[in-house]
Amino acid sequence: MKSNHSLQVSELFYSIQGESSYAGYPCLFIRLAGCNLRCSYCDARYTYEEAGQEMALAEVLAFVQASPVPLVEITGGEPLLQENVYPLLAALIKDDRLVLLETNGSMDLARVPAPVVIIMDIKCPGSGMAEKNLLANLARLTSKDELKFVLRGREDYLWAVDLLKENMLCPPSPAAKEVPKILFSAVAPDLAPADLASWLLADQLPIRLQLQLHTQIWPGQYRGV
Ligand code: SF4
Repeated sequence: MKSNHSLQVSELFYSIQGESSYAGYPCLFIRLAGCNLRCSYCDARYTYEEAGQEMALAEVLAFVQASPVPLVEITGGEPLLQENVYPLLAALIKDDRLVLLETNGSMDLARVPAPVVIIMDIKCPGSGMAEKNLLANLARLTSKDELKFVLRGREDYLWAVDLLKENMLCPPSPAAKEVPKILFSAVAPDLAPADLASWLLADQLPIRLQLQLHTQIWPGQYRGV
């Protein structure tokens, strides 16, 4: 039975941030267990196929407080499935950490504290999960946040560009004050980064091509990186 202030944790680790505009920085990771989606390309199935470990909020905070590293990422799985992620976010902000929250885009962002940098997925058709996108979240993202599309091929690319244009996110509406950064990445081996690069160059859109840095540094390793 869980206590009132516990979290189901898949892993705590220290590594290089690999999948955002913060890629390359040393980062403390809190990976929470459980996910409500089943993406076709998921490389973190252990987060929902294994129960993880129940930890007190204080224990998770102690992991962070043992390090001076300012960057902390909460990821999953889907971290917003756990109610106690909210006191965790609040405590990390109070501790003056720069907090990144990776979320799969299916959960309401209304209660995420304003200082948190949200890195939100939009699930493309190739994931098999596109109907789960909660597009109302787009209006909650600000210029400090990031919107990430993971693409399996040309069909996903065209779908993503259409969605961005329909929502006036890319190119941004001249009236828009708060537009998140847009990231596109390629699922290996389905889509070659060179193909994605050539499409982005041809379309001349302000979209950042994102390679998974940790998979290049530690190929074949999925946990703890
Ligand atoms: S949202 Fe993330 S953890 Fe969940 S199934 Fe999709 S890729 Fe895997």
